[in-house]
Amino acid sequence: MRSLTIWRTLLGVDKTVVEDVDLDLVAGVFVASVRLTRSMRNRCGSCQKRCPRYDEGAGRRRWRGLDFGSPRVFLEAAAPRVSCREHGVIVAAVPWARHQAGHTHHFDSQVAWLATQTSKAAVTVLMRIAWRTVGAIITRVWADTEKLHDPFAGLTRIGIDEIS
Ligand SMILES: [Zn+2]
Repeated sequence: MRSLTIWRTLLGVDKTVVEDVDLDLVAGVFVASVRLTRSMRNRCGSCQKRCPRYDEGAGRRRWRGLDFGSPRVFLEAAAPRVSCREHGVIVAAVPWARHQAGHTHHFDSQVAWLATQTSKAAVTVLMRIAWRTVGAIITRVWADTEKLHDPFAGLTRIGIDEIS
């Protein structure tokens, strides 16, 4: 198996090129430098439509991914801004994380699941994040879940017993 495929699988990323990997043993941090494949570049962070590039944004940034055992894992990539006809100047989308999120989809999913299955202390200690971060992640995951499931799907009738 090609090493690029192995890294992509371990990092849980798709439509992404892993350019370099680095392990800082002292800090216990693993950083994968990545870039988007051509088809994923310059898409609006909100609607995902292709847009003209606006500028380089705030430069390279990092997203926390699932740990590799002990080392914490980060994806590092350029975070340019695009000019969307509907959403204005906005940070471009990345396939591994939600818009404005500092964590990958896989990280968010694990935290959201743990929050439903374990104690507050277990989630924060195991994932090495603050409780307020857990709250922000749950809000993001829930917003996406709501988009996928119409709460009134299959509803054929609403009965109102009293009208005041
Ligand atoms: Zn847009």
